[in-house]
Parts: sequence; C-alpha cells; structure tokens
Amino acid sequence: MDSVNTAASEEHVRNQVLTWFEQAWDPSLNLLKWRRRLVDSGWAVPSWSREWFGLERPAWVDAVAHRVIRQAGGVALPLGAGPGLAAPTLYEHGSDELKARLLQPTLTGELEWCQLFSEPGAGSDLAGLKATAERDGDSWIVNGQKVWNTSADHADMAILVARTDWDAVKHAGITYFVLDMRQPGVEVRPIRQMNNHQSFNEVFLTNAVIPHANVVGHPGGGWRVARATLAHERSFTMTRDVYFKPGAVGRVIDEARIEAEAYLKTYEWYPQRKGRFDLLIERAAARGDRTVAPTVTDEVMRTWTFERSASLTAQRARVVREQGHPPGAEGSIGKLALSEVARRSGLLHGRLSGAAAMLAGGSGDPVHDAVAEVLTSTPAQSIAGGTDEVQKNILGEAMLGLPKEPSVDRGVAYRHVGRPDADDQSPE
Ligand SMILES: Cc1cc2nc3c(=O)[nH]c(=O)nc-3n(C[C@H](O)[C@H](O)[C@H](O)COP(=O)(O)OP(=O)(O)OC[C@H]3O[C@@H](n4cnc5c(N)ncnc54)[C@H](O)[C@@H]3O)c2cc1C
Repeated sequence: MDSVNTAASEEHVRNQVLTWFEQAWDPSLNLLKWRRRLVDSGWAVPSWSREWFGLERPAWVDAVAHRVIRQAGGVALPLGAGPGLAAPTLYEHGSDELKARLLQPTLTGELEWCQLFSEPGAGSDLAGLKATAERDGDSWIVNGQKVWNTSADHADMAILVARTDWDAVKHAGITYFVLDMRQPGVEVRPIRQMNNHQSFNEVFLTNAVIPHANVVGHPGGGWRVARATLAHERSFTMTRDVYFKPGAVGRVIDEARIEAEAYLKTYEWYPQRKGRFDLLIERAAARGDRTVAPTVTDEVMRTWTFERSASLTAQRARVVREQGHPPGAEGSIGKLALSEVARRSGLLHGRLSGAAAMLAGGSGDPVHDAVAEVLTSTPAQSIAGGTDEVQKNILGEAMLGLPKEPSVDRGVAYRHVGRPDADDQSPE
C-alpha cells in the first residue's frame, strides 16, 4: 500500500474507532466491565478474526485503535506479557478450547502472565533447555528450574517451554505449555539485582501437573510456537508506554491508573537501563565549559547523533511491524544501537560525576540517584530480548549470509548432548 493510501485508510480507521468510542465510553464503569466491552467490540485487537474478538483488519490497525482510544480519554488494553506475548501466541497456535478459555480474561487483564523460558543453562541457546515434562495419562508432570522470570512472583499464569522427548533432536523435543502458577509444585524465589530492584525470579517446578489440554500446538512442536512468542517480544518491549489524557476522570481511569502503577513498579529501573541519555546534555551544560573536558562534550554530541539515528531506525522498524511485515535487519540493528547508547551514556555519566557516581542512591538528589542506578542497570540492556552477540549472529547469518556457527548437536538425539545423567554422553 503506498503512503497516500495508508494515510487515507488510517484516517478512515481513526474515524471508525472514534465513532464507536464516543457511543461506548462510560467512565463510571469498572475497569473490567469497560475492557469486556472493548474486547467484545473487536477494537481491542482488530487484526484478529471475527470468531476470536477481532474485525479481520490489517495488523497496523491494532496500534492505531489503541492510540485513538487513549487520546480520546479512554483506556485500551493492559500492558504486560499477557496481551503482549501469551495472547498473540495462543491466538496463532492455541486450540479453540484454549482460546475460548484464556483469550478474553487475558485481554481484559483478569489474568496476569509471565514467561518461563530461560534456564540457568539455556538463555541465548534457549533450545538447549532441560526442564522436563513427562506424559502421565491426560496430564504432564513437569520438573526443572527456570530463571530471570520477570513478574513470576505475582503472575496467575505462565507460558512455559519444556523438553518432552529426549530422543528427538534438540529443537524437535520441545513442547509449549500454559501453566497455572498458583498450584502445588511451583515455587517462586525473587532475585535481588545489583541495582537493588527485584523484578526477576527463579521458578522451581517439582512434579507440577499440567493438563494435556494446556499444550499449545502439539507435543514436540513447541520450538515453532516459542519462536512466535519471541517475535512478539520485540514489539512488546517497545510498548511499555502509559498514557492518560490530561483531565480524564472516572472510575475506569482511576482503576486503570492503579493497574498501570502496579505494572510499572516492576519496570521503574528500565529508563536507567537505557542509560538516561536524556540527562546528558543538561548535565554537561550544568557543569559549564571550564570543568568539562572538551573530549567529554565532544563525546556527548557524538552520542546524541548516534541516538537520534538509532531512534529513527527504531521508528522504521515499528512502522514495518505495524504494517504486518515480519521484522527484518532493522530489529537487530535497533536493538544493538540501544545497547550502544546505554553503554556510551553510562560512561559519560561516570565521567561527568567522577567518583561520586559510585555512591549508591538515596542521596535525595534525583539526578545523582539516577546516575548511580544507570551504572548498575545498563548491563541488562545488552542482555534482555537477545544479547548483543546473538543480534550480531542473526545479522551475520540471516542478513549477510555468513556461514552458521559450528554445532555439535545437529541431527543427534538430544539425550546424547544435553542430559547430565545420560549413560552415553557422546554423539552417535
Ligand atoms: C531485563 C531482563 C528481563 C528478562 N525477562 C525474562 C523473562 O521474563 N523470562 C525469561 O524466560 N527470561 C527472561 N530474561 C532472560 C533472558 O532471556 C536471558 O538473559 C538472555 O536470553 C541471555 O541468556 P543468558 O542470561 O543465559 O546468557 P548466556 O546465553 O549464557 O550468554 C552469556 C554470554 O555469552 C554470549 N553468547 C551466548 N551464545 C553466544 C553465541 N552463540 N555466540 C556469541 N556469543 C554468545 C552472550 O552474548 C553473553 O555475553 C530476561 C533478561 C533480562 C536482562
């Protein structure tokens, strides 16, 4: 679609959403009733089919609808792994029974979700996971450990990947499940980070029972489903924005503000994770020419230029995704650029603060406290959502066509590679 046609149809969608919103909006409703009304109307996820709460519109319409509703003074979908990761994965790969049971309460925010993917020995190499699910009649019994699971301490449900066939090759022995977090055999232990926040957890699964009906896709087909979730994760990380129209009041708004505050508590260190580039120019200017070395001001401007071009690349990636195209190289390039901005900004904050940057927060000076948190939070930027090295591998292999890394586990039953208690550890 060319840009003139896109603009014309965007205007048409905006008008349609606004017309619906003006007759549907009732700020005296409670949040749940409002969200159910929104979901039933099809404007919560207009790109989905009519059978499943949608209107069969192109993918870009979702973002436009949410923007229009918020700008008009209303409330759209909740934030988080539920609407961002679980719902689209269930919509694309779940059985009708799972969709009927879980999609609506996920979109309304009644169910909170977390992602149980990473393990102590399986992060970048997620397909090397070892948590094991064994079939027992109409159930699966899961044992193993997950780690770095954001919000697992208050989630109702989880998306989980586990190994169900050790005799299959690495990627073919994995199954994707939906797990009830509030059941025996699920133990969540919070992790305190070096920036003193606590948003991650370890999750220990000991004989946790999952009904067979909670398999997403089919047994052994979990890698394909996990890849779908990871593709959504890229867009999900970009939509952590909260917006309430100034002056908007009413019960729905009050409850949505409380919900957003609770959600953002987990992520309050995320701006610092990005390096607080926004404070750099102000801080360099406040120090004055005589105390800031020209090399520092030079580097601030270099970082500013780099950040601007990275933001434009990120915008380009967002537009491509909103138009329903699969993410291309710009996703990995944008992710690498964010890491670079965070690293450079952290170094510059350190040079501007001198030794004081090493003091922990709690000084009462918000800028100083932010700097201390920047230094302990920026390393996470180049790990979350795929490390820098992994992004470089993706760019090298998928975009530049460079040879793949050598692998010892291709074509071999995973039992011979990844199982610590296997009799025979050597590949056949
Ligand atoms: C803020 C944040 C939130 C997260 N939230 C969640 C969550 O909710 N749920 C969840 O399941 N996980 C979550 N994670 C975990 C995250 O997915 C992993 O940390 C990430 O995949 C990296 O895995 P790892 O930590 O095991 O590091 P490893 O994979 O062990 O990597 C260690 C180092 O080796 C390098 N490396 C690894 N493989 C290669 C290779 N092939 N070539 C070159 N270098 C390589 C890496 O780049 C890295 O420098 C979160 C992480 C962060 C930081």
